[in-house]
Amino acid sequence: MLEANQIVADVLFSLERVIDAGITTHELDHIAEDLCVKHKAIPAFKGYRGFPACLCVSINEEVVHGIPSRKRKLNNGDIVSLDFGVSYQGFFGDSALTVPVGIIDSGTRKLLDITEKSLDLAIEQVQVGNRIADISKIVQKTVEENGFSVVRQFVGHGIGRSLHEGPEIPNFVQRGSSPRIVEGMVLAIEPMVNTGTYDIQLLKDGWTVVTADKKKSAHFEHCVAVTANGPTVLSVRKKSISPVKN
Ligand code: MG
Ligand code: MG
Repeated sequence: MLEANQIVADVLFSLERVIDAGITTHELDHIAEDLCVKHKAIPAFKGYRGFPACLCVSINEEVVHGIPSRKRKLNNGDIVSLDFGVSYQGFFGDSALTVPVGIIDSGTRKLLDITEKSLDLAIEQVQVGNRIADISKIVQKTVEENGFSVVRQFVGHGIGRSLHEGPEIPNFVQRGSSPRIVEGMVLAIEPMVNTGTYDIQLLKDGWTVVTADKKKSAHFEHCVAVTANGPTVLSVRKKSISPVKN
């Protein structure tokens, strides 16, 4: 699981460093696919329920599952969510982050910071004996007390020999009982956070999810192993040299 997730982390680190105005989302997908070949890993999303690319690239109001395109270029002031997964020697890795393109406005900066912070705080809740709802609760609280909203229709998940396994990990508190967190689980925790309403729409391409009010959305995801000593983030990235240019 660590090796699979470290390949994902390496790909995302490499992509983060080339994010710039003018690059097409297809070029990003191409880089991700090349790196998979180098690492002898299988891109997990390509062909998954018919998804046509290796990488999900979602810009601005796009929440998740954006399809790379030769026609779509990044612009200064955009934010771009990169979601990537592989299988490697029978195990899956899955991680995502949202990256600014050039200079972004302060409200958008806050959206990225709070989304990442909600993930960091959620990871601290990955303790044997806690419940999945402890993750949901801290994400929702962190996001909502900063004036943003969490997407309801998509959730995090367990991961292992399949990309998506139980338990589901909602980013908001649901009624009813919630599974215990057990040693040996690996959890893909992935807050999807909207500036405005949490309502979403599906575009006609059948994949791209956008916010209903067309305001921006951010997405961060890590795979976290549950150990007796607490959480271990398997998809941790090298620290990037700041991608922000001026
Ligand atoms: Mg993902
Ligand atoms: Mg995932």
